[in-house]
Amino acid sequence: MDLKSLIRNIPDFPKPGILFRDITTLLQNPQGLRYTIDSLTEKCRPLSPDYILGMESRGFLFGMPLAYQLEVGFIPIRKPKKLPAAVYRAEYELEYGTDCLEMHQDALSSGDKVLIVDDLIATGGTAKATAELVKQAGATIVGFCFVVELTGLKGREQLPDVPIISLLQYD
Ligand code: AMP
Repeated sequence: MDLKSLIRNIPDFPKPGILFRDITTLLQNPQGLRYTIDSLTEKCRPLSPDYILGMESRGFLFGMPLAYQLEVGFIPIRKPKKLPAAVYRAEYELEYGTDCLEMHQDALSSGDKVLIVDDLIATGGTAKATAELVKQAGATIVGFCFVVELTGLKGREQLPDVPIISLLQYD
């Protein structure tokens, strides 16, 4: 299936110079949605994770159905001050300033195997910060999974040496 034809490209969003890869048009297409989740499931199953970690908010859209298909639990990685219990936090660089992600401290135990899922990897900063949260919990990353990879930004070079799966690549 030609998934790229279902992803809408919006120039200069959210700011000039960014070509935004809009996955809402993919989610809305029943065959595209099913094919995407089935493909992610097939590619990720061999990694045998105990949990899927998805980053707010588009990581939830793909991480949750993937966890359901693989019959494992889902752990949300959230923006600051959203999670109610004690959290680990990891800061990451943005073009201007920094941002932060949080995970419940009791979500993972040492030895748990996790797969980190997001809609898209650009610079890799978001995925790297999530990897730091997993490290703080003493758990093990078995892989990363993205629907879209912007290969020109070399985000995968920021990540630890584990399998990095992406369904679609753009230069
Ligand atoms: P990064 O931390 O640079 O790898 O950026 C990844 C996050 O930013 C993902 O959660 C994406 O949803 C979002 N993102 C970055 N660049 C784009 C883009 N060109 N189109 C759509 N989403 C993007």
